[in-house]
Amino acid sequence: MYQQIVILTGAGISAESGLRTFRDQDGLWEEHKIEEVATPEGYASNPLLVERFYNDRWQQFHNGCIEPNAGHTALAKLEQQFEGELLVVTQNIDDLHERAGSKRLLHMHGELSKGRCPRSQQTFILREPFGPRHTCTCCIPAQRLRPHVVWFGEMPFGLDRIQHALDSCDLFIAIGTSGTVYPAAGFVDTANHHGAQTVEVNLVAVDRHSQFQYHLEGKASELVPKLVDDILSGKIVNNVL
Ligand SMILES: [Zn+2]
Repeated sequence: MYQQIVILTGAGISAESGLRTFRDQDGLWEEHKIEEVATPEGYASNPLLVERFYNDRWQQFHNGCIEPNAGHTALAKLEQQFEGELLVVTQNIDDLHERAGSKRLLHMHGELSKGRCPRSQQTFILREPFGPRHTCTCCIPAQRLRPHVVWFGEMPFGLDRIQHALDSCDLFIAIGTSGTVYPAAGFVDTANHHGAQTVEVNLVAVDRHSQFQYHLEGKASELVPKLVDDILSGKIVNNVL
């Protein structure tokens, strides 16, 4: 039986709920210049353009068509029923894990549903799309909130906590992430170094030189529920799911 599990989720698990991803073919970066909509410099030079970009994403979440899938639900079930320590780290800025019921969750790339005061770093929940009227209540004068997302060139959130969890985990699972972007790409090395079992779940085998010990190929919405049932019934994960 495992004692401490760390799970990293990426765009692949959200894509199965119908959300457009950033990096895939037909991804959002095909249509938008990264330097304009996802860097501090781009925001400084045209905040309205950046807000519009994230508002489009925001609208997509709130149009009523996007729901958590069986992968999200299974991870919430694992959190509720697993008796050891568990941390879900997500690279996704959507709230599908929360909607499925996950609570022990860390958004390393921020959250679309929040704005952040650029001075105090305090976050505020957004109940409507971004606009100039969204200002903080922590400063005088009030500051215009910026999207609470990590842009290129910025440090992801929670790295200390993630590192700490990886240092003592005995199972690390990455789901729907290409595993090519640092620092997340290095999590598997840390977990391996500490003797954990490492498992990746991906639609297609991503990397010939993968550091993961086990590779499960297929949809997260189909594989993750099986994986969770195995873990909860005390089975050791292997390739023959
Ligand atoms: Zn403030």
